[in-house]
Amino acid sequence: MFMIDVRRVDMHTHTRCSDGVLSPAALVQKARAAGLSAFSVTDHDTIEGVQEAQETGRDAGMEVIAGVELSVVVEDDDVHLLGYFFDPDDEGLLRHLERGRTDRIRRVKEIVSRLNALGMELSVEEVFEQAGGEAVGRPHIAAALVEAGHVKSEQEAFERYIATGKPAYVARERVSGIDAVDLLHEAGGIAVLAHPGHWISDYVIRTLVEAGLDGIETIHPSHDKMLTGYYTSLAKRFKLLRSGGSDFHGRPNEGERLGAYSIPYPRLERLRRRAHAIQSGLERTS
Ligand code: AMP
Ligand code: FE
Ligand code: FE
Ligand code: ZN
Repeated sequence: MFMIDVRRVDMHTHTRCSDGVLSPAALVQKARAAGLSAFSVTDHDTIEGVQEAQETGRDAGMEVIAGVELSVVVEDDDVHLLGYFFDPDDEGLLRHLERGRTDRIRRVKEIVSRLNALGMELSVEEVFEQAGGEAVGRPHIAAALVEAGHVKSEQEAFERYIATGKPAYVARERVSGIDAVDLLHEAGGIAVLAHPGHWISDYVIRTLVEAGLDGIETIHPSHDKMLTGYYTSLAKRFKLLRSGGSDFHGRPNEGERLGAYSIPYPRLERLRRRAHAIQSGLERTS
């Protein structure tokens, strides 16, 4: 009998290990309640939450795919790359993530001293207290600024001080997107371009395709119907696998994002097949 596969998958979520709110275990429960069959934990610069999510997932009958979101630079533009199916013990990848987190700490210190120079009393410790895991970032600074009473909302913290180009903004270390694609492949993983609708030019996408990019997010909350259609046609043109997800951080203003932005299960299988092809290529050359 022919059966329609109704399973849905969210390939983009965050936990408190980076700038999300929920623990990995709580995210698994929430994903189940949202009707998902599988999802990936894609924290910024850390895979700290993956194991807990996978262990909880095993008990809850929820498939959890190892993932990570990397901040890289391509042709001078800031780009986010999602990695999946990599070996979580790969030394090259772990070293890269560690370096990214060290740079995040350096940057928090610099932003805090800029805020101090602007007359705001705030300590680096107050920022670290807001972080629930290894990867500390601007959302934690924004939360600390609210807590200290310097701004009324996290949005105001970004708009007045820490968004790109604002007085306390400090850039992160610039990592090449082309190198990051290689790194993910060498770890047996695949590389997917995150939310291209965030002002990523087709030229940047082409550069990444030439570097071996495997897939592109067509589904994302920042993509309207037009953009989803556009990136779907681009995926066909560049022979990229289509992926997508909710980019859920567990924040109240995100509404019912989880479950509302997902891909059909067969697309997850295509992504996995690509990873297996990369992994057998690695075995042949080692
Ligand atoms: P970071 O990785 O430390 O640079 O922080 C990036 C995160 O900060 C993003 O994932 C967003 O959640 C948040 N963010 C960046 N820019 C803004 C903005 N202009 N307003 C609100 N949140 C922002
Ligand atoms: Fe984020
Ligand atoms: Fe992102
Ligand atoms: Zn994200």
